[in-house]
Amino acid sequence: MKIAVFSAKRYDRDFLTAANETAGHQLRFFDEMLDQESAALAAGYEAVCIFVNDRADAGVLKALAAAGTRLVALRCTGFNNVDLQAAAELGLKVVRVVTYSPYSVAEHAVALLQAINRKIHRAYNRTRDSNFALDGLMGFDLHGKTVAVVGTGKIGCVFAKIMLGFGCRVIGYDKYPSETFTALGASYAQPGEIGAKADIISLHCPLTPETHHIVNADTLARAKRGALLINTSRGGLVDTEAVIEALKSGQLGGLAIDVYEQEADLFFRDLSNTIVADDVFQRLLSFPNVIVTGHQAFFTEEAITTICETTINSVSEFAEGRPLTNEIKAS
Ligand code: NAD
Repeated sequence: MKIAVFSAKRYDRDFLTAANETAGHQLRFFDEMLDQESAALAAGYEAVCIFVNDRADAGVLKALAAAGTRLVALRCTGFNNVDLQAAAELGLKVVRVVTYSPYSVAEHAVALLQAINRKIHRAYNRTRDSNFALDGLMGFDLHGKTVAVVGTGKIGCVFAKIMLGFGCRVIGYDKYPSETFTALGASYAQPGEIGAKADIISLHCPLTPETHHIVNADTLARAKRGALLINTSRGGLVDTEAVIEALKSGQLGGLAIDVYEQEADLFFRDLSNTIVADDVFQRLLSFPNVIVTGHQAFFTEEAITTICETTINSVSEFAEGRPLTNEIKAS
């Protein structure tokens, strides 16, 4: 089957090509992000493979379907960038990678937490400049602290387990509570209670209309003063301007994010020779107690291998008329 791969980086080419060795699909890699303009590149390709910031809204899907596409394969878990209703109406099937390595993302969330708490980003710069002073580098013991996990699915549970290993008390909120989470030794609480009690809040729920700006001026005002916020899920969960105000007032003690609401204009490319015009993002970067990574939480060898193998397998299932293990449908 002919597959047009959008937003293709070198690692996508390498790992998808390796995963495709036996299946033998025809892969064509495009640097371009999928949008209304670039959709024309997929003309004649029955399958289109996209990533987190590619746009598959109704207009783009219409253009793809008209030019012969029948399958949209997301090489990621989240699918907030696809209009599933429009896909269904156009007869397009949509698949994603339901499970790869939850460890990749959970471990990155822990790395961000450790870095922001113990000021590793600042220490790294200081010692390279032969500055070995400790002023401003004080953190706190994780042991004995309360960690809130919002979204206690696969990644949230791995994160919770690691935090329990540090000797933290773990509380969680999920629209659909699960025994897997409580069996770890964690407990559920209501959103208000979570905010008030948590020293650390880590977001692991999907971005939906319901969870959009789940962290906002109101929830931040009710949070424990000085709490740390970690977001490795989706940028749209957080109202960034409200977070900036909370950082300025000291209500929020620190922020470590792998995702940002307007990241589609920034992430996954080298902008070091340009002027970044996003003032909100630039303001964020000006805080000493903010760390940003560019959506790299998934980026481990194990995760990419599984992502690419699952994606190729989904295309093979479709090509052979088999049931689609990882299909997503409009609810
Ligand atoms: P999952 O489906 O296993 O878990 C998500 C959990 O969120 C579920 O338990 C679900 O019940 C819960 N949830 C749904 N709606 C909710 C709501 N309104 N309020 C609270 N909880 C709600 O998914 P996962 O594999 O653990 O992934 C979680 C998220 O992580 C994904 O949706 C994706 O956005 C993000 N992610 C980020 C990266 C990265 O590289 N930064 C990589 C993979 C996934």
